[in-house]
Amino acid sequence: MQVIKAPVGASAASVAGGHQVRETVERILAEVRERGDAALREYSEKFDSWSPESFRLSAQEVEKIVAGVPDQVIADIEFAQGQVREFARHQRDSLRDVEVETLPGVRLGQRHLPVAATAAYVPGGRYPLVASAHMTIVTAKVAGVPRVAACTPPIRGEVPAATVAAMHLAGADEIYLFGGVQAVAALAYGTETIDPVNMLAGPGNAYVAEAKRQLFGEVGIDLFAGPTEILVIADETADPFTVAVDLLSQAEHGPDSPAVLVTTSADLAREAIAHIDRLLPGMPTRDMAEPAWRDHGQVVVVDSLAEAYEVADSYAFEHVEVLTADPREALTAMRDYGALFLGAGTCVSFGDKVIGTNHVLPTRGAARYTGGLWVGKYLKTVTYQEVTDAASSARLGEICARASRVELFEGHARAADLRTTTPPAWALSP
Ligand code: NAD
Repeated sequence: MQVIKAPVGASAASVAGGHQVRETVERILAEVRERGDAALREYSEKFDSWSPESFRLSAQEVEKIVAGVPDQVIADIEFAQGQVREFARHQRDSLRDVEVETLPGVRLGQRHLPVAATAAYVPGGRYPLVASAHMTIVTAKVAGVPRVAACTPPIRGEVPAATVAAMHLAGADEIYLFGGVQAVAALAYGTETIDPVNMLAGPGNAYVAEAKRQLFGEVGIDLFAGPTEILVIADETADPFTVAVDLLSQAEHGPDSPAVLVTTSADLAREAIAHIDRLLPGMPTRDMAEPAWRDHGQVVVVDSLAEAYEVADSYAFEHVEVLTADPREALTAMRDYGALFLGAGTCVSFGDKVIGTNHVLPTRGAARYTGGLWVGKYLKTVTYQEVTDAASSARLGEICARASRVELFEGHARAADLRTTTPPAWALSP
């Protein structure tokens, strides 16, 4: 393995940055928990210069905002939401309730119940992430969540009209214009004016992701979905220009977004780097993409595609594009990734905006233990049991009483004793 371009980002600086983010988040969470609406407003003023009379949009305000969004934008939102909805419905249908009889009259079952209320965080600090509304709200609604409280920050002091339209069309029950740590804190804890939710879903910057991490336990979270990552696997058949453009497409998310190329071709590696160097100065989003590429960009040349898959798995990145002669090979060769993009006909942008798979995906190695957001994340898989056969109940009672006494649980054992056919000695002389 040969590293052609290494990241420049100083790890000491990122560790210090991590501490700072953790401490800032701790402080804001404590304040909002303690002081509710007053703290929410103070932090919204501080970070977003935003303090409207009400953070929640009324139905009339939503209607007015949506009416001002161009028809084509609305049509494209509806298209994307249709794609997300269709895929989510198939995912929902793949989850069946289960009931089996394991012994005569012994029924064990499993059901999938939606959470009662979720927050849908739609990011908007740097860009109005309209598509995150499709991903979080449409998916929650397909899962059957009755209350979806959606929020997004103002963007440079303005109402993000297309995002509000997407939230409305997706079926949000409440729409709030606020963002950052204070927003997720207010929704998780509740305030004088906001009812608390049971779960937080949606992507966000390092602050939002850390806030969700710290709030986990108080509420459920979908997953750790922080700053975006892309890894491209390319062989000699890939087009270096496409590789360069696709790497930059994700680097522009923010200066902390890593973009990595793993390739079997040293020629392609050099050409892709040259294209990136040429493209960057002309990018309108250069202020994000350039530091991201400089500080977190990497190019690695490997000896074989088998090694490429291994290296890619070790990164466990959010997005992995496979630009090789046989891209579907990655489906069996790889294990740790948020989403795969197979072949040059698609790209991460498709997943981000329109194709219908969910774009809320694991980052910072979380792909080692979870996939991305899907209907299943909004569902609680609960179980039940029932015994209607006396002989089975007695048999289970005997075994359970013995098992409980091995564990020194006399109380458990007594409850089991009551189900046996012989009256327990302790019950005859209480
Ligand atoms: P955001 O909505 O996540 O964050 C904006 C908020 O951050 C602001 O409202 C502000 O209150 C807060 N904030 C800003 N600076 C702060 C500070 N110094 N201290 C405390 N709070 C502060 O929007 P964003 O910043 O544009 O970030 C969006 C992120 O979402 C990007 O990093 C992008 O890569 C990521 N993303 C991830 C996924 C995924 O699935 N992993 C998908 C889409 C987007």
